[in-house]
Amino acid sequence: MRKFLAILVCKAGRLVGKLVGKGSSLPGKAALKICPDILSRIRLPEYIIAVTGSNGKTSTVEMIAAILRADGRTVVYNEEGSNQTEGVTTMILTHSTFGGKMKADVLLLESDERYAARSFRFFHPTHFVVTNLYRDQLTRNGHPEWVFDALKPAVYPETELVLNADDPLSSCLAKGHEKVKWFGLDECSVSSKEPSGVYHDGAYCPVCKAPMEYNYYHYNQIGAYRCTACGHRKPATDFTVTNVDLEGGEITIDGEVKIPLAFRSIYNVYNILAAYAVCSLTGVSRETAASVIGNYILKNGRMVRFTLGSHHGTLLTSKHENSVAYDTNLRYIRDTKEPCTVVVIVDAVSRKYFTSETSWLWDIDFSLLSVPQVERILLCGRYANDLAVRFSYAGISPEKWELHPDIREATEFLKSSGEEDVYVVTCFSDRDKLLVNVVKEAV
Ligand SMILES: [Zn+2]
Repeated sequence: MRKFLAILVCKAGRLVGKLVGKGSSLPGKAALKICPDILSRIRLPEYIIAVTGSNGKTSTVEMIAAILRADGRTVVYNEEGSNQTEGVTTMILTHSTFGGKMKADVLLLESDERYAARSFRFFHPTHFVVTNLYRDQLTRNGHPEWVFDALKPAVYPETELVLNADDPLSSCLAKGHEKVKWFGLDECSVSSKEPSGVYHDGAYCPVCKAPMEYNYYHYNQIGAYRCTACGHRKPATDFTVTNVDLEGGEITIDGEVKIPLAFRSIYNVYNILAAYAVCSLTGVSRETAASVIGNYILKNGRMVRFTLGSHHGTLLTSKHENSVAYDTNLRYIRDTKEPCTVVVIVDAVSRKYFTSETSWLWDIDFSLLSVPQVERILLCGRYANDLAVRFSYAGISPEKWELHPDIREATEFLKSSGEEDVYVVTCFSDRDKLLVNVVKEAV
């Protein structure tokens, strides 16, 4: 009875919530009050796929959903991004019958790495994809090792882990776990012998703290690592990108599956591989997976092209407080050939809480912009002055960068001058969405 009531209240609450434009966590919260173990009383689908990690969760989940749907499966996933227990409860119950059976072939969850353990108390994923773990929103999440400790209890023996073999930290989740599949990149065109980024997070072994050595790096601590003391090392991979042609926009998986790249970044290569791996594990053919990914254009506009006056523009969004995401976008600009202007906008730090804490700017490797084709750099937004201080230490000639705190003014300024390519580097916060609209309006 309580189960029925909880489902009823949740469905009704969700309906009302939709009408008045409220968020999705409240109905779930009410249902959990009525029946605290409601999630363990629901008959869930055959496949429960969870995806977590510091970066790439949303893109990976969207690709997985697209592939599985193209394969004819009914997929329910938290498209609204509410990945805490209450939101997950709302999602599951609104897609269930009153008898308590979920109406889907696959439940797909983008999971917050800190809340996964709570969400999975009542049900356990059949597949758990961890994209990577690294410096991410330090003020909220703390250090990667802390996040790892929070994630560990979310891993249950019956869950098949799908892990990034190239990440020395998240790969530790496999310790003592039997069901593991690995994805990773062979040494290829993007590999380098030297670490990149301001910090070298791969310097020491996450297991025993001894120095680590690398055969090659792909970015930051991601690469072919091996501990000099305890034997922690990149494992053999089950799903492997064997060739990367960023310039031509194509990757090869397992030596034969070729996939064109919509977004030519190494970062995207890992997301594609993770999605490909877990979909293959649920029985999707490699042809289906490859063709869906090939046609897939990231719906959420992480890379948006626009025109501004005579400029061709590309909007590269990153999560704030996440230096790896920024570095990847900056590296993308570094690898372009044509003369360009770069607009860096920091107008809000977090969309979830107020903070003016900008120390994370110092983790971003802005010196990547110190290349001849980057002819000018506009520093914009409320934190333009903080950016200026950071840039004065970035080894970039001061003649190249200038301050334009007002985004609208910067847009007008650009419109009236030059015709080189423009790259806008910014984040996803609500205020910055505003600026995306300003840019779009200016088209
Ligand atoms: Zn070690």
